[in-house]
Amino acid sequence: MSSAELPRVRFAPSPTGYLHVGSARTALFNWLFARTTGGTMVLRIEDTDESRNRPELTDAIFEYLAWLGIDYDEGPYYQSERRERHREAVQQLLDDGRAYLCDADDNELPGSEMADGRAVRFRTQQGTTVIDDVIRGEVAVDHAQLGDFVIWRSDGSPTFVLANAVDDADMAITHAIRGEDLLSSTPRAVLVAQALGTTPPAYAHLPLLVNEQRKKLSKRRDDVSLESYRQRGYLASAMANYLALLGWGPRDEVEIRPMAEIIGQFRLEDVNKAPAFFDLAKLEHFNGVYIRELDSEELLGALAPYLESDQVPWPPECYRPDVAASMIPLVQEKLRTLSGIIPQLDWLFCPEPPMDEKSWDKSVVRGRASAEILDRTIVALADCPWEPDTVKDAVFAAGEAHGVNRSKSQAPVRVAVTGRSVGPPLFEPMVQHLSREEVLRRLRNARSQL
Ligand code: GLU
Repeated sequence: MSSAELPRVRFAPSPTGYLHVGSARTALFNWLFARTTGGTMVLRIEDTDESRNRPELTDAIFEYLAWLGIDYDEGPYYQSERRERHREAVQQLLDDGRAYLCDADDNELPGSEMADGRAVRFRTQQGTTVIDDVIRGEVAVDHAQLGDFVIWRSDGSPTFVLANAVDDADMAITHAIRGEDLLSSTPRAVLVAQALGTTPPAYAHLPLLVNEQRKKLSKRRDDVSLESYRQRGYLASAMANYLALLGWGPRDEVEIRPMAEIIGQFRLEDVNKAPAFFDLAKLEHFNGVYIRELDSEELLGALAPYLESDQVPWPPECYRPDVAASMIPLVQEKLRTLSGIIPQLDWLFCPEPPMDEKSWDKSVVRGRASAEILDRTIVALADCPWEPDTVKDAVFAAGEAHGVNRSKSQAPVRVAVTGRSVGPPLFEPMVQHLSREEVLRRLRNARSQL
């Protein structure tokens, strides 16, 4: 195959907001297709809407593509720098009679000289355009639905469809892989491309992403920015793996696997057209799997920004990195996000355990047996050897005296010492990292509130 026959795809974001999980999925599918076929990935920043562009949003696109491991072979091209080329294409359409000038009231004006303050409309002829979408099959649109559409605004800027079609042609894009929300603009882009004498790319419109209520993911309702997932401690590897499965799946159905393997399996024609459910629980599960795969040094490195941030609930002078490091093997199994480390460890560094009211309201904790278990435990721990096994035995014995099983007898002690009903194994870290006096103080304090 000569390189002229290899696919050329592009990710073409408009920097009007922070990178959305849907855009990230679009970028990833383009990249997977390019890497699977040996094609070329182009990055094109569609920054023609000057009123909404902010340079930091473009920087965020670069940053998050890099975070996900999505690289590109060409670009970034900036659409805003191609204004003259877009003007030239509009002039060609005017000269060929395929477009016309309009006045402020949208009336057709004679002549074909582009001038300031004049909009230009594409002259849509009667007929039907059939898009042979790689994912959706044939989509036919009657031109009556399109009308004569604007390709150049009176403020001297190209419209999305014009710039998009011209750039795809000039950049020799073979496949336009993008979100389903753009499908309605596709027939216009095809008409413009054809009128310019170019061949439009093959289109592949990726399925919508929907939430649990099967509603389209939206900025207002759902957590959609990649940034917020990264901040909450989703690993890039887990996120990328999960995004790859939104609307696509490998034929062997093995879902959790390294990107290098996904590249070998990805087929654009296997993408579904049905909406893809953005399943937070599944993403968390993936993240947990990827967190468990880290060795303890890697995990500690990944957790450090969370443990050392200025948002931690403990006073900085109370933090003990060696204690945090020793806890890693105890919490790794259960961790679903990196930020989830905080509620696992805060009781070891906060002068007062954080009080989770919900934990206190559980009947095992509020019940009458709890008060008696705490009373007995306080007496027993006052002079037993300060070792995990003896402390544990003392708590279990206190429970047994009230006919309460081991996990139930541990519950009030756990809540008293850690503030929560769930957390890492209790006795070893409690005895190793808190003093007898401190544990007794917390137990008495809790007892007084029952
Ligand atoms: N710039 C468009 C957007 O961000 C995408 C254009 C395309 O992929 O064709 O919605």
